[in-house]
Amino acid sequence: MKYKRILLKLSGESLMGDQQSGISSEKLGYYVKEIQQAVRTGAEVAIVIGGGNIYRGLQGVAGGMDRVQGDYMGMLATIINSIALQAGLEKMNIPTVLLSGIPIEGIAGKATRRNAQKHLSAGEVVIFPGGTGNPFFTTDTAAALRAAEIEADVILKGTRVDGVYDDDPEKNPGAIRYETLSFDEAIQKKLKILDITAFTLCRENNIPIVVFDINSMGNIKQIIEGKDHGTLVSS
Ligand code: UDP
Repeated sequence: MKYKRILLKLSGESLMGDQQSGISSEKLGYYVKEIQQAVRTGAEVAIVIGGGNIYRGLQGVAGGMDRVQGDYMGMLATIINSIALQAGLEKMNIPTVLLSGIPIEGIAGKATRRNAQKHLSAGEVVIFPGGTGNPFFTTDTAAALRAAEIEADVILKGTRVDGVYDDDPEKNPGAIRYETLSFDEAIQKKLKILDITAFTLCRENNIPIVVFDINSMGNIKQIIEGKDHGTLVSS
């Protein structure tokens, strides 16, 4: 096994599937199966899922919403997605705990390193809802922060494409994919891997990032086991 403890970052948007918003039960079921395979490798699995399928603070601002309140709405959206994921995993008998950045008694425990370590060591999946608990951040930054706290071996960032390209592969069919990149190269080439705050946190704490195609079955398991998929960004 290449990675013993992973932090999986899923975007909220990807939960929509073909829908315009909300949670597609089909997509949810797919993620649950992918995570189940990851758990079966024996790796410790922590997850941060975004909220973009329900609400994004900045989108709200564009419509006249206050930024801070919009961001809290976005953080609450991540809690809804996390509960959905927990429910899906528990249906498959995968013990899963929520440790939130925003106190939400009755639904989630507190996102502290101690709590996370305890549950991960017990073989439970740990989902971190509520982002960092602060406005002006993103769930990418929450993923980097939690990964640093739990000393994850890697962040696996699931996307719609199979890695980092030199141009948008959905618009330019001639775009070239990088197999590996250093943090410095990514900055130099102005490649967007995570938002800048999140990226800086990973670089400073030396947390490698694998950007991979979440919609290709078996990828998470295979990456854990050492197969190269997508793009590896490391120092
Ligand atoms: N958010 C926040 N602080 C955090 C994490 C998230 O304020 O630490 C808010 C922010 O408004 C963001 C929304 O939650 O737009 C949803 O998160 P994100 O956009 O990262 O979700 P994704 O794009 O991954 O679905």
